[in-house]
Amino acid sequence: MQELASLRSLLGTDNVVVGADMAPYLTDWRERYSGEAEAVVRPGTTEEVSKIVLWCREHGFSIVPQGGNTGLCGGATPDQRGRQIVVSLARLNRIRHIDSDNDTIEVEAGCILQSVQEAAEQVGRLFPLSLAAEGSCTIGGNLATNAGGTQVLRYGNTRELCLGLEVVCADGQIWHGLRALRKDNTGYDLRDLFIGSEGTLGIITAATLKLYPLPVAQCTAMLTLNSLDDAVKTLSLARAGFGASLTGFEVMRRNCLEGVVRCFPEQRLPFDEAGLQSPWFALLELSDNESEAHARERFEVVLGNAIEVGVVQDAVIAESVAQSKALWHLRESIPLSEKIFGKSVKHDVSIPVSSIPAFVEKTNALLQANFAGVEHVIFGHLGDGNLHYNVARGTAYSEDELLAKQREIYQIVHDSVHAFHGSISAEHGVGQLKRDLLTRYKDPVELALMHKIKQALDPDGVMNPGKVLQES
Ligand code: FAD
Ligand code: ZN
Repeated sequence: MQELASLRSLLGTDNVVVGADMAPYLTDWRERYSGEAEAVVRPGTTEEVSKIVLWCREHGFSIVPQGGNTGLCGGATPDQRGRQIVVSLARLNRIRHIDSDNDTIEVEAGCILQSVQEAAEQVGRLFPLSLAAEGSCTIGGNLATNAGGTQVLRYGNTRELCLGLEVVCADGQIWHGLRALRKDNTGYDLRDLFIGSEGTLGIITAATLKLYPLPVAQCTAMLTLNSLDDAVKTLSLARAGFGASLTGFEVMRRNCLEGVVRCFPEQRLPFDEAGLQSPWFALLELSDNESEAHARERFEVVLGNAIEVGVVQDAVIAESVAQSKALWHLRESIPLSEKIFGKSVKHDVSIPVSSIPAFVEKTNALLQANFAGVEHVIFGHLGDGNLHYNVARGTAYSEDELLAKQREIYQIVHDSVHAFHGSISAEHGVGQLKRDLLTRYKDPVELALMHKIKQALDPDGVMNPGKVLQES
């Protein structure tokens, strides 16, 4: 405790949190992981972050960077040893600069995603990263996990939205890489190395991000479908018909929407009895740069065609912004309503879109063969080939019995993902949750190169040790 005195004089007493006040920082959002820390520190400038890194090195502590603590893989939770300092970036939350002519915004890492979206909108621009945690997650966390969300189909992951970074390295040096260039071929891309590194290579303190024109009009529809195969065919038709205007294509199994309505009775599904019996639903969004009428006209042509060829059974097109929001709200409520199925075994996977129907059929069958009666809770970003493939206890097991089988279920699902040439983490990252799985599924050469990079940038293992890679 004595050694914290110098940290207090550096940051001010209020910004060195100890004891019971640390609790919210020590457990992850899903309450799956919790750990111990010597202190939680809240720097207000990049220079302070640098000084904290030097202090931690001198006193033998390692560092766990933390943004909004909404990550789903335990990456921002300290370990049990009590020799870590949690560095919360929450106070580093200034919008530093907006350049409308260059379509860029420079922000500090602790900015809440929603506040970046709002700042962009105020100058008539769109910052397109969008996910259900946007009211509490931070840009630093989005970059560190290379977050995806619902607009990836058109605008890409967080990686594609970032032009430059400012980073405090593991030795305390500050890398001033806040370039606002769309072209820069001057050697190895360090920016892309730090993006998605989950705090294991350095602390991101600021970023230059890309902005886009605000769409003039948006059109949203919910569709009923007889199969996932039909969903893939509809996606193809939508891509061909809308090109870059297609900004969202989400898919949901019927039980997901039933769960939402049971959990949130004020929400309604906009279909008649027959529609409600559909096994699959899709949510489709088109962004248009001309007008509402133009957007709707394009929508009706493509959807009319999809119904005619029989891949879509029914379509409800939102008549107003409020209706469009209500449709998105149904989709976005799925993660929150999942508790209705009890604790489930969750997977965030990607597979080439063309293989998704076969993957789901094969994996569902494998699970039923091994654990008859489990329930498949499947939804996700079909346009990106990304499914949240979750397994609930169904009629077969109690919650505890299901969780006792978690390891075997993971293995069946991830082996299947691997066999279909997919990824065991599409958008949530690795953290502690999937760290040990990398040794099974990553190419050994690739994994060895990752260890070499870690060794080169953080030879003393100060930055978030035990996350992404096993400690060496
Ligand atoms: P944290 O949880 O605080 O940290 C996450 C990781 O990044 C940790 O390893 C941490 O050490 C590291 N980190 C944080 N800040 C920094 C920094 N400044 N420098 C270096 N490392 C840092 N993800 C998706 O991709 N798509 C979704 O659609 C999606 N939906 C979600 C919905 C809900 C309801 C929730 C709770 C989460 C969702 N997520 C989704 C998970 C997503 O990864 C996080 O919401 C978000 O990207 C993490 O930001 P954060 O600020 O909360 O980071
Ligand atoms: Zn998602």
